Amino acid sequence: MRKKQFKAESKRLLDLMVNSIYTHKEIFLREIISNASDAIDKLCYLSLTDDKVGLNRGDFAITISVDKDARTLTVSDNGIGMSADELENNLGVIASSGSYKFRREQSEDADTDIIGQFGVGFYSAFMVADHITVVTKKYGETQAWKWESSGAEGYTVTEAERDAVGTDIIMHIKEDGEEAGEFSRYLEDWTIKSLVKKYSDYIRFPIKMLLPHS
Ligand code: ADP
Ligand code: MG
Repeated sequence: MRKKQFKAESKRLLDLMVNSIYTHKEIFLREIISNASDAIDKLCYLSLTDDKVGLNRGDFAITISVDKDARTLTVSDNGIGMSADELENNLGVIASSGSYKFRREQSEDADTDIIGQFGVGFYSAFMVADHITVVTKKYGETQAWKWESSGAEGYTVTEAERDAVGTDIIMHIKEDGEEAGEFSRYLEDWTIKSLVKKYSDYIRFPIKMLLPHS
C-alpha cells in the first residue's frame, strides 16, 4: 500500500483547514451533509430511469451517528458512491465553489472570511477531525473502497467492505485544546441536532440521528 501525496494546491487548502483558527468550525457539518445530499440526488435521479437501482424516493436518507468512545462522528448516505478513481480525483481537489481561486487573490488575512462565505467542501472536516476515513461503494460496482487521511502527510486508498451502495464519512474528532468541549461538542447528539437544524434544514432528504445503544 502506497501513501499518496496531495497535489500542491490541495495541500495548501488542507494545511489551512488543519491549522484553522476559524471560529465557526461547525460549518464542516453543512459541507459533509450537502455532499451526501448531492450524492443521493444523483442516485435518486438515476432511479427514475433505472429499475436496477432498486430504491424509491422515500428510501433515500442521510444517517448521522456518534461513537463517543471511539471519538467518531459518521455521516452516511445511500447515494451514488465513488469508484477508486473518483475517490482519488474528487476528494482532495479544491471545492468546485471556486473559493480557493478567489482566496488566492486576497491577502492571507482574508482566509477565514472565505471559509464562511463560500464553504470549502470536504476538507473543512479537517478543522474538527484529525483523521478521516471514507468508505464508499459506487452504484454498479461490486468492490468498495476506503480512503484514509490524517491530513498533510497524504492519503491511502485500499479495498474495503460495504454491503450497500453509498458512502460513510467517518470523522475522528480532535482532542480538546485549552477550550473545554471545543471539539468534543461534536460528539454530543444535541449539538449535532442543532447544527443540522441551523445549517441543513433545506436538505430535501431525511437526516436521521442514529442513537448509540448503551
Ligand atoms: P463540491 O461539493 O463543491 O464538489 P467538495 O469538496 O465538497 O466539493 O466535494 C468534492 C467531491 O467529492 C464532490 O464533488 C463529490 O464528487 C465527492 N464527494 C464528496 N462527498 C461525497 C459523498 N458523500 N458521496 C459521493 N461523492 C462525494
Ligand atoms: Mg461539497
